[in-house]
Amino acid sequence: MADLLVTGTLALDDVRTPFGEVTDALGGSATFFAYAASFFTDVKLVAVVGQDFPKEHLELLAGRGVDLAGVQVTDGRTFRWTGEYGYDLNEARTLDTRLGVLADFKPELPPHYRRCPFVFLANLDPVIQLDVLRSMERPRLVALDTMNFWIKGKPEALRAVLHEVDALLINDTEARMLAAEPSLVRAARAILAWGPRVVVVKRGEYGALMVTPDRFFFVPAYPLESVFDPTGAGDTFAGGFMGVLAGEGGTSEAALRRALVYGSVIASFTVEDFSLNRLKRLTRPDIEERCRAFREMMQVEL
Ligand code: AMP
Repeated sequence: MADLLVTGTLALDDVRTPFGEVTDALGGSATFFAYAASFFTDVKLVAVVGQDFPKEHLELLAGRGVDLAGVQVTDGRTFRWTGEYGYDLNEARTLDTRLGVLADFKPELPPHYRRCPFVFLANLDPVIQLDVLRSMERPRLVALDTMNFWIKGKPEALRAVLHEVDALLINDTEARMLAAEPSLVRAARAILAWGPRVVVVKRGEYGALMVTPDRFFFVPAYPLESVFDPTGAGDTFAGGFMGVLAGEGGTSEAALRRALVYGSVIASFTVEDFSLNRLKRLTRPDIEERCRAFREMMQVEL
């Protein structure tokens, strides 16, 4: 089992979906990622919060064994995101983003973080993502996520960090935006030419597509009767994906495919309730059982 480092946001979210709403809920790309990955491996977190961030949220992550030595608590307000979803739950509409303490965040990595072999740069300012990456000592696999806010806001910094990563996990709308290309396959190919050797395009309820220079692999999303809140689906997908790779300590094609299935399965739990509420009740046997159902669902004789 290999250690997995993640940097991203710890956030307080206000979210409205057609099925309800929450205010000041625990969110953030690194929160969802770390919680999901903690089912599979040891996770080290680099992030910043303000004094207003409730202690029980950090205790929740510590309770999952997540190393919080790289989390700074500084004067100011925690990162806040306000978003909503219509009946098409695939697309989040951002109503407000308040960077708060993230605006002046200077990550400082504790010495025992620097040799983590697996690194995930979750959705965050690409300048900070690059800063963290440059503090690492030759990691084996580095993956990145981003979104429209940073694609539009910091395109040069994003291209610079993309150049240095092995894998990009990104949702379909953002893949099209990043590559300025309506075809997802062409968009993935364009991104492969900029540095990463693996591109995973997350397509919400339509599954996820992995593109490498010579192959495609596709996983469906687990079919659910009711979805309450898609927030965190992408981050927990990434947490399952990277958690499995780090847990196995491998990056072979077979491991990448397995990781994609676990990512899809764990994301399917996230969306069954608001914030991290479903994840908090989740056990490893629940994950394994849904993975078995998933395999059954994908089998075909040709
Ligand atoms: P997702 O998995 O894509 O649904 O990610 C949702 C989480 O991303 C929310 O909990 C937000 O707090 C967080 N988030 C929203 N906007 C940003 C942003 N611009 N940078 C980093 N994290 C964000």
